[in-house]
Amino acid sequence: MPDFPGSPTPPPSAAPADGPAGPLVCSARGCRARAAWGLRWNNPRLHAPERRKTWLACPDHREHLSTHLAERSFLREVVAAEELPGGRE
Ligand SMILES: [Zn+2]
Repeated sequence: MPDFPGSPTPPPSAAPADGPAGPLVCSARGCRARAAWGLRWNNPRLHAPERRKTWLACPDHREHLSTHLAERSFLREVVAAEELPGGRE
C-alpha cells in the first residue's frame, strides 16, 4: 500500500466574484445599476430580421430605454434579465 500523505490540490478558482459573464449592468448612459430587464430590439435597416440586439435596463431606466426603442419601431420584446440567453451584444 503506497503511502502518499499529500492532500489533493484543489483546482485554482480564479473566477471573478461576479461570475464569468460579469454583472448585468444597465445600458443607460452613466447608470451603473444592476439590470433587471433585457430589451430585445432590431433595426431592420442594419440587421437581419431574426437578429436581436439587447439593451439592459434597471427598473428606473426600463421605461426610458424601451420608449426610445419603441419610438423607432425597434423594440421587439422585453424579458427579465435572468431569462436572457448567455450571449450579450
Ligand atoms: Zn439604469
